[in-house]
Amino acid sequence: MDHARVLAQVHDLVKDHIGRGRVADYIPALSRVDPGRFGLALATCDGEVHGVGDWRTPFSVQSVSKVFTLALVLARDGDTIWRRVGREPSGNPFNSLVQLEYENGIPRNPFVNAGALVVTDRLLTLTGDSSGELRSFLREASGNPAVDVDTEVAASEEAHSHRNAALAHFMAGYGNIDNPVQDLLHHYVRQCSLTMNCADLALAAGFLARHGLLADGSRLISRSEAKRINAVMLTCGTYDEAGEFAYRVGLPGKSGVGGGILAVIPGRCTLCVWSPGLDAKGNSVAGVAALDAFTSLTGWSVF
Ligand code: GLN
Repeated sequence: MDHARVLAQVHDLVKDHIGRGRVADYIPALSRVDPGRFGLALATCDGEVHGVGDWRTPFSVQSVSKVFTLALVLARDGDTIWRRVGREPSGNPFNSLVQLEYENGIPRNPFVNAGALVVTDRLLTLTGDSSGELRSFLREASGNPAVDVDTEVAASEEAHSHRNAALAHFMAGYGNIDNPVQDLLHHYVRQCSLTMNCADLALAAGFLARHGLLADGSRLISRSEAKRINAVMLTCGTYDEAGEFAYRVGLPGKSGVGGGILAVIPGRCTLCVWSPGLDAKGNSVAGVAALDAFTSLTGWSVF
């Protein structure tokens, strides 16, 4: 396939969507991002990267980080995390509190905030420094040693983290958080505040397209764990829009309120798209449109 030509076609097809939607403003530092940006990168399984638009511009990864923390926990700890977090779509917003009470402090899945807090709590217990561990992994897997936390975004999010604090305290009340909530929030916020570009993220997620293998051929997670992460991305990665995303795009995907979406085509490639305007569910408007256009043009979906 002529990757550059397809990516240019996708860019052309989504021009009208760029700038639509609303930039996340509940984290004040994110509200200053230009909604007119758009980038798309594709990384093949052998590490070739192609891109279009602002694909080399760093942005706040936000909830896209949740894919990587889950992988790092599975890599170290195997299946045990599933005793503390489910794997069903929540049908609720990513920061919702309502299900937690009647489901006894066990979050629906690892990609809503409550679930990601549990995963981060485990990574913190296992490593003593979950955000440092994640940053090292992402630097190595993306090949970009400059990947780092945006301390302004982190401070802004930490100062406005009442909902996440409520989720964490509530789960701690059910015995589902092991570390002090303050420490947990600190690491969680730093993970969300990592700044990467589309190429970095597409490369870093390559192990999901390579059935668990890192770029050097070593194994991060088993083939079946890679399959499972992809499955949970498909069913839960875009929150209460996961059904619509699967319908339109037909790929495992994970979004973040920074406007990024990571998508995986197992055995072929990873894609990362970024455009900061979000729909009401917190997913990038132009990002979803671009992935929809990509799978329609190429026929590369998991279905
Ligand atoms: N850091 C954000 C939060 O905790 C991540 C949410 C997201 O990207 N959906 O609210």
